[in-house]
Amino acid sequence: MSSTLSFVHAVRSINRLLRLTTQTPRAELVDLRRARGRVLAADLLATANVPAFDNAAMDGYALRGCDLPSSSHRQFALLGSQLAGQSTGLIVGEGQCVRVTTGSQIPGGADTVVMQENVERIGNLVRISASERAGSHVRPVGGDLQTGRRVLRQGTRLEAAQLGVIASLGMPQIGVFERIGVAHFSTGDELCALGRPLPIGGVYDSNSVTLSALLEADGLLDIPLAPIADQRHQVKEALLKATQLAPIVLTTGGASVGEADYLLAVLSEIGNVEFAKVLMRPGLPFIAAKVGHALVFALPGNPVSVMACYRMLLSAALKRAGGSRRVAPLRLRAELDSRIDKSHSRREFVRAVLSRDLSGNLRVRSTGSQSSQLLSSMSAANALIILNEQDRSIEAGCKVCVEML
Ligand code: AMP
Ligand code: MG
Repeated sequence: MSSTLSFVHAVRSINRLLRLTTQTPRAELVDLRRARGRVLAADLLATANVPAFDNAAMDGYALRGCDLPSSSHRQFALLGSQLAGQSTGLIVGEGQCVRVTTGSQIPGGADTVVMQENVERIGNLVRISASERAGSHVRPVGGDLQTGRRVLRQGTRLEAAQLGVIASLGMPQIGVFERIGVAHFSTGDELCALGRPLPIGGVYDSNSVTLSALLEADGLLDIPLAPIADQRHQVKEALLKATQLAPIVLTTGGASVGEADYLLAVLSEIGNVEFAKVLMRPGLPFIAAKVGHALVFALPGNPVSVMACYRMLLSAALKRAGGSRRVAPLRLRAELDSRIDKSHSRREFVRAVLSRDLSGNLRVRSTGSQSSQLLSSMSAANALIILNEQDRSIEAGCKVCVEML
């Protein structure tokens, strides 16, 4: 029951548990302005051509490409102007041109725009020399998106660029997956609420805030619950309540085998514990259990362990459960600035700063002490160096695998 898993097996087990216990989320329509970070519930096909009409890519003069001079120059008669947003009905005939601005509908008959910088204008005559090419500076209808073609795939996370594309189709709302609810609470007698004076022996409950931010960033529905004291019956009551509220429950603290650590005992009593430890650092105590229809993940209390466990064990799996397609964070190889010592056989995640040197090479340095209570070193880091189980000390200059935070 209280089995210990390697990091890789723990990741697999968590993915399997989530696959078995969670269903594909339902879809809901949300306003585009509230859809950032949400996940597209179905392939999006273009409902229209974008742009909707041939239009000018430059300020200039629209004309027939076949009228362009092949040597010397030619004078064109200016019929009028059709600025962006206007529809004048002007038709360009032989030797004629119409003034246009960027985004103007190309007037009937025309197929070419000559940049205004390249012409000489004398009253209603426009003089164009032989260097112009037929067909230039015209953005064709459907050049960006074509009606019926797939624009975005189901499972795409919607960020600024994707939202802009959807808006360019004129859609005020979009179908996204409902967010999976993740209820979470901290445990510990020493925890003090933010804004209150800190009693002797107390510590502010930072884990709850960190977890809320991590869940929000992953597009999950953050359900923060009040912290719980190290009392067995309170832990049990809180877990039973939380598992009624959400399909996923996270706790922090009390996950080890200390005197005041009740998570393992309670989870064994009210559910099925899948594993209780993961061979990783920071981390180690990390319990995965099924309680009724919910999954509970009990994380250690140390703030850095909370972040490392969430990022490395839970983040991708929860995003996948939420319907996301691309869940793997970007990993890079970078040159180590100074030696890192490792003497254990666990997978290790070293808080680190990744940067580019003057020659453009990626370099990475540890933030220093890796003690798991040092949240300051987590906030100084922009990446984690990933050291495998069999890795031992790694010399400066070696290439290491790095995951961006
Ligand atoms: P535990 O895993 O309960 O043994 O806690 C390990 C360490 O993390 C202790 O120093 C706790 O005071 C600290 N800790 C536990 N929970 C929190 C929390 N919610 N916020 C900040 N620190 C915490
Ligand atoms: Mg504790």
